Amino acid sequence: MNETARHIVIVGAGHAGGVAAATLRQTGFAGAITLIGSEPYPPHERPPLSKELLAGAIPVEKTYLRPLAFYADNRIVFHPGETAVAIDRTAQRVTLKNGDALSYDTLLLTMGARARRLSLPGADHPRVLYLRDIADSLALREHLKPGVRAAVIGAGFIGLEAAAAARKRGAAVTVLEVQREPLQRVCPPEIGCFMADLHRRNGVELRTGVRITAIAGADDALALYTADGGTVAADIVLAGIGAQPNVELAQAAGLAVDNGILTDEFGRTSDPHIFAAGDVTRHFNPLLGRKIRLEAWQNAQNQAIAVAKVMAGGNQPYAEVPWFWTDQYDVNLQIAGAPERWGELVWRGGVDNKAFTLFAMEGGIPVAAITMNNGRDMRAARELIARRRAIDPARLADTQVKLQDLAKESAGG
Ligand code: NAP
Repeated sequence: MNETARHIVIVGAGHAGGVAAATLRQTGFAGAITLIGSEPYPPHERPPLSKELLAGAIPVEKTYLRPLAFYADNRIVFHPGETAVAIDRTAQRVTLKNGDALSYDTLLLTMGARARRLSLPGADHPRVLYLRDIADSLALREHLKPGVRAAVIGAGFIGLEAAAAARKRGAAVTVLEVQREPLQRVCPPEIGCFMADLHRRNGVELRTGVRITAIAGADDALALYTADGGTVAADIVLAGIGAQPNVELAQAAGLAVDNGILTDEFGRTSDPHIFAAGDVTRHFNPLLGRKIRLEAWQNAQNQAIAVAKVMAGGNQPYAEVPWFWTDQYDVNLQIAGAPERWGELVWRGGVDNKAFTLFAMEGGIPVAAITMNNGRDMRAARELIARRRAIDPARLADTQVKLQDLAKESAGG
């Protein structure tokens, strides 16, 4: 087909959708691009929504990937506030909620994920909030004021980042986590404990092993009932209990879906005319040798770039060591890799230090790393993980041996 006559439709105008649209133009794709997003905002980054935007330190516009004018200037037809409701794969057509239908030659699905909802009595109270998009962040921020009692359910990234922002705004914060430590899904217990201490030092009442059974609300005051018979009083509740991918549109269209739209390392779905990128995918990662679903900035940014390049005719797979970071109070925590379990740990410095790095090993090979206020180790750590070569744990633990040197040796050896 004549390239200029080709129409790429992107469903989902979050981080991945916005990056993909821009990348298509940057790589010289000359055909038509249509970008459809349910939110009223242009494509934006999500990390500030639970940090700087929530704390009130930046305006909404600072979260935008590019100014709104960028899309028209680059012949990207952007439909904010519009939702795709059906895909007809035979006719290669997407139907929008407003009844319009768009024909596509290639479709990119970047619908992301949504916050998991609490399922317990009283959870539908209007002061039980979630934090996923800009509107959520602004709505929660309105409530976070000195003297307000905020109860945060879940000590994952959302719960902890929101707790730190809430403290910054002077709210009294109680965090209630069902697991034994915070961040259990992404960190070993030692790091969870470190983060729990950090929050407690900053005035958060952080309780673990707590299961909420019901929420009762009278006017503005809420009571959270716990399984051990206790009660927590709050003015506002934030539930940060995980996310689930927005797969319904793909599922209804008959695409292969299993905890995410299934794709290969090029972002190809089970339909050759349809690609997917970002949080909504469970994609094959060649470095890990398995399919993985990631809800993080790196994946929204770099998988979208890689997939857009493939859609424009390239043939490079998306193959990166997963990487996440969080900023809470004066701590920067970074995680590389996504191990199914944090087995044997090798420490460079200890939790008593202000800054340290640790590696998770499998059969003598580093498979994941964490840096605590030690981001300068991260590049070398990711290189070491990507090489998948055994390393002497004694040298890895020796802070006199530079990680950069170990990475160089690993590359050459
Ligand atoms: P998350 O990382 O899955 O953490 C949610 C935590 O809440 C888990 O420990 C979970 O335990 C616990 N939980 C679940 N139900 C609960 C209940 N009823 N009562 C008390 N605790 C409960 O999810 P999240 O923090 O909501 O974040 C959503 C996604 O966005 C995650 O994938 C996260 O990684 C991502 N995100 C990333 C960043 C970053 O990279 N900095 C920032 C924000 C969000 P179980 O494991 O037992 O369910």
